[in-house]
Amino acid sequence: MEKLLFEKSRSGRKGYTLPNLEVQISIDEDILPEKFIRKSPAELPEVSENEVARHFLRLSHLNYCIEQGLYPLGSCTMKYNPKINEVTASLSGFRDLHPSTREDFVQGALELMYNLGECLKEISGFTGVTLQPAAGSQGEFTGISMIRAYHEARKDYKRTKILIPDAAHGTNPASAAIAGFEIVELRSNENGRVDLDDLRRKVNDEVAGFMLTNPNTVGIFEKEIKEIEQLVHGCGGLMYMDGANLNALLGIVRPGDLGFDCMHINLHKTFSTPHGGGGPGSGPVCVNDKLIPFLPVPQIVKENDKFRLIYDIETSIGKLHTFFGNFGMFVRAYTYIRMHGAEGLRSISENAIINANYIRALIKDNYKLPYKEFGMHEFVISADYQKEFGVNAKDIAKRLLDYGFHAPTIYFPLIVHECMLIEPTETETKENLEEFANVMNIIAQEAKENPELVRNAPTTTPVKRIDDALAARKLNVKWS
Ligand SMILES: *Cc1c(COP(=O)(O)O)cnc(C)c1O
Repeated sequence: MEKLLFEKSRSGRKGYTLPNLEVQISIDEDILPEKFIRKSPAELPEVSENEVARHFLRLSHLNYCIEQGLYPLGSCTMKYNPKINEVTASLSGFRDLHPSTREDFVQGALELMYNLGECLKEISGFTGVTLQPAAGSQGEFTGISMIRAYHEARKDYKRTKILIPDAAHGTNPASAAIAGFEIVELRSNENGRVDLDDLRRKVNDEVAGFMLTNPNTVGIFEKEIKEIEQLVHGCGGLMYMDGANLNALLGIVRPGDLGFDCMHINLHKTFSTPHGGGGPGSGPVCVNDKLIPFLPVPQIVKENDKFRLIYDIETSIGKLHTFFGNFGMFVRAYTYIRMHGAEGLRSISENAIINANYIRALIKDNYKLPYKEFGMHEFVISADYQKEFGVNAKDIAKRLLDYGFHAPTIYFPLIVHECMLIEPTETETKENLEEFANVMNIIAQEAKENPELVRNAPTTTPVKRIDDALAARKLNVKWS
């Protein structure tokens, strides 16, 4: 490595530059026309390390993160990613592996993937697994494609429909449509569950499957799951579980035991891998015996304590992702599962449920609860009471920012008017939950006494109210 020199840079300003840094790149002019090739070096600001560090630290302070406070976003679960995950994922034996390395040299990595798959099967109550899908939504597509392959293998070609409740996450109908199915929407009843009468009307021999989230998107357990399962299987359809809310069931209920045929698991929601911009995501899919023949390749098998990859499975739906999926996420999720063990995982779900219901109880006098029943790991409220003061769910969400909290998910699910979906997760203390509930109650008071204040929020953030529609339609992420 060459020594760093302090010298005058090309632009005449002083700064650190690396000598001989000009990399020779041969550019094929067929690919990049001459007119696009830079004639002189890019004019990047040249400042000291200290200034760079301050710049980025300042920027980071404009942001909100889990290290700062609660993230009550519903339908998202994990926002806290244990630091130990980063330690294991950075072990050079994992981090520096090339995915093309031959099998005998990556036995450790294959073992980890195999073991993670075994853990997920045990937790969910299924017999087969693929770790490949890169997100829950891709897992949905994988599962629905396997359901399609299942019917086709039986020469049952008339099954063109997938049943999906109106409360479902938007990815459910999207995945089913991409897999070539027609979507049939099911109504939810006044208790926030699947309307069984509507289901009875819609099951027939054209139904390929039913996609259900349990607990569902309003945070309520679908306790009539046995009736649902009998109706769907009774008509020859298969049961797909959207496992985004598995955080409420760990060690308590196994979806495989409820009669589902397959499910996806969002590692970034239930098993502590990073979410959103911190990704990439990971959405393994577990299946029962009916769907094992159709699992994506490669499959990892264990033979005499050696791990092998199998590619030639004729009935497989094929490959979903380059190589094996997002391997770094497998290391993190496996770390989390092994750190907690069976007992620990169960207490995660129990605490997630208690925490959500604690907040619900603390704010129930000030917000409308659309459903009487206790929720699971998340719950919905409606800002309907605040409507008479001209305050809506978005205003309340914005006002929370002024108090230093991240906002919950709003306007999802669509079936609840002025919906706010609140999910505190298991990683918050009683004091944090109380503080959040307290602020929610203060905002309800403000909405009554000084609605203008809430409508104009946020006032303390670096960016005030923005025009969401304009921001979404004319997204400008370029610095000029
Ligand atoms: C998050 C979520 C999905 C989609 O998962 P991604 O990993 O974001 O693709 C599907 N269904 C529900 C209920 C979800 O909350």
